[in-house]
Amino acid sequence: MTHTKGAIATTSSHSAFYNIIPGALEEGLEAYAICFDRDWALWSQYPKLLEKIHVIRVKHYNDAEKIVGAFNSIEEDVIIVPHGSFVRYLPVKHLKQLTHPIFGGIKILGYEGDRDKNAALLQESNILTPRIFKKPAEIDRPVMAKLHGAEGGKGYFIAANKTEFLAKSKDKQIDFIQEYVNGVSIYAHYFSSPLYNRCELLGFDRRLESNANSQFLPPFIPPTFTVVGNVPIVVRESLVPEFLRMGQNFAAKTGLVGPFCLETIVTPDLKIYVFEFSGRIVAGTTVWVPFGNTYANTLWGEPMYMGKRIAREIKEAFKRDKIANIIVDSPNLEEL
Ligand code: AMP
Repeated sequence: MTHTKGAIATTSSHSAFYNIIPGALEEGLEAYAICFDRDWALWSQYPKLLEKIHVIRVKHYNDAEKIVGAFNSIEEDVIIVPHGSFVRYLPVKHLKQLTHPIFGGIKILGYEGDRDKNAALLQESNILTPRIFKKPAEIDRPVMAKLHGAEGGKGYFIAANKTEFLAKSKDKQIDFIQEYVNGVSIYAHYFSSPLYNRCELLGFDRRLESNANSQFLPPFIPPTFTVVGNVPIVVRESLVPEFLRMGQNFAAKTGLVGPFCLETIVTPDLKIYVFEFSGRIVAGTTVWVPFGNTYANTLWGEPMYMGKRIAREIKEAFKRDKIANIIVDSPNLEEL
């Protein structure tokens, strides 16, 4: 790497435009964005931001070959920053064709996308997780059925028992049957830093799901879980140390670098169940741009949010000549 200031590249998305790129600019990094036609109508509303970054236009968001080509055409030394839709539209096979390094590597993204690997990694990190039922015949309690490829909770359903599950799952491709945990959902945001040698708890959000979080859900309407937005929260004081422990365990177990999220349900007796992890920045961290929050700002002594935190690590790595440390591919995980 020859560049001393540092540069990032990513694809167009909500996280990219409102979180990762503002963070990069605030930290003085160069930013390259591959923008899909689908997103241009929105992006072109912000000429003041666009004039500060390098935009590469690509027609289709699901054209993996073209996206790889666009990334590989960037001549400057950049670090590619992944996010939710980046992971969805670039399968591991294509990620491996990228010539620029990926912040935090590839393995954790592959583990995230495989529901069985996702759950196993949480269990191995000594984290409380809902039970998983491999076959409908095993169901002995209320369950949450997750559909193949479902995005943002779309099409998930709850079944009170085996009989109800069998009735509701007819003609549906059920991918995953998980114990239904009753409580409040809380999404915890972390950053695992090789340069500062610590796992940082940087905040929490919760999702608003339609119709589960309706203003009023009449008893005759079954709940559904389509994510429609995120809201900021601070959590009950006594929960914070356990959230921190879980994040630290997960970072130590995997060796991952960068942002991740533990998606949890807190029960009435204050047990924290983690039903899934995301191994990259999540949409809910955008609620804290640009002012940061209680946890992140107390840790840093300045306004801190996830996009800025990523950029800070990249900037430091360029400055201290430690790029190898931030592109290391989760050394404790097996190859995909
Ligand atoms: P996901 O797409 O896996 O993040 O799940 C979407 C939503 O479904 C979550 O935000 C939760 O509200 C709910 N959910 C997922 N898994 C469970 C579970 N095991 N028990 C209860 N609710 C769940």
